[in-house]
Amino acid sequence: MAVMPSAALPSPLTPLADPAMERAGLELRLKRDDLIHPTVPGNKWRKLTPNLRAAVEQGHTRLLTFGGAYSNHIRAVAAAGAARGLETVGIIRGDELADAPRNWSLALAESYGMRLSFLDRSGYRETLRSLDDPRTLRGLEARWGRAYVLPEGGTNVLAAQGTADLVAELPDLGARDIVCCAVGTGGTLAGIAAALPEGARALGFAVLKGAGGYLEDEVAELHRRGWGRTFTDWRIEHGYHGGGYGRVPAGLEAFAAGFEERHGVRVERRYVAKMLWGLYGLAEAGALPRGARVTAVITGPPDPEGTG
Ligand SMILES: *Cc1c(COP(=O)(O)O)cnc(C)c1O
Repeated sequence: MAVMPSAALPSPLTPLADPAMERAGLELRLKRDDLIHPTVPGNKWRKLTPNLRAAVEQGHTRLLTFGGAYSNHIRAVAAAGAARGLETVGIIRGDELADAPRNWSLALAESYGMRLSFLDRSGYRETLRSLDDPRTLRGLEARWGRAYVLPEGGTNVLAAQGTADLVAELPDLGARDIVCCAVGTGGTLAGIAAALPEGARALGFAVLKGAGGYLEDEVAELHRRGWGRTFTDWRIEHGYHGGGYGRVPAGLEAFAAGFEERHGVRVERRYVAKMLWGLYGLAEAGALPRGARVTAVITGPPDPEGTG
């Protein structure tokens, strides 16, 4: 049974001619996962699809998940639940948001029928930290009813395995290939790295500040749980977070605007722009092997126009 039937797969793979890349001896192409689905785009579609299938198979009628005020994951779960006829509950970080006017992202989630609940930051952190404790789940279900629970950002083993499908859409990968993506929780990078053929490499760009070590551990743990082994074909670059999650310093904004202008492709700022910024930074520093073919995964679309 198709979970979200209107997905457009495989997503387009488009070569991109760029003088900066040519100077570095690199071939660049974009994997346009931002175009997969109108309301459940990018890596969120790939991560949610196997989870929705599991939820339905396990007889669930409700999804429950977690996220911040502008979470792409929250909107994607709301839209996917609506498409699949599942109720959705979003637990949102920040109790000050409860009585504030809804921002565009939360308003969109509610328009898909998601019920929102707001937790203060320490309660939110504690709930996420103890998500594997049966008492936490019982507490959530006492309030919301039986639910299929997805962690913040939607990353679990099924999600990582879902992103692995992306690699199957890249023909003829080999030793000269580098596949790049942004890293929030690491689920997408984990799936890509696990699926690559011998010799090809995955390169992730952290969007969080100070996440060195932590994100590597998360990816390795997903590999152990999902594939029963670890992999050595990936690494995470930590120099291009731009000051932290959601921060867009002037240099990053100028880079993203220039890229949009040169290539006519709009660039999502919290993840995709940082990945491209980092990729160009490494290329210009001569830190990528000449002759490599770089596939930059565009993991999601930009925020709607006029949302700041
Ligand atoms: C959520 C998201 C990511 C991060 O993916 P992870 O699997 O959490 O690392 C990257 N890009 C976009 C556009 C996203 O929405």
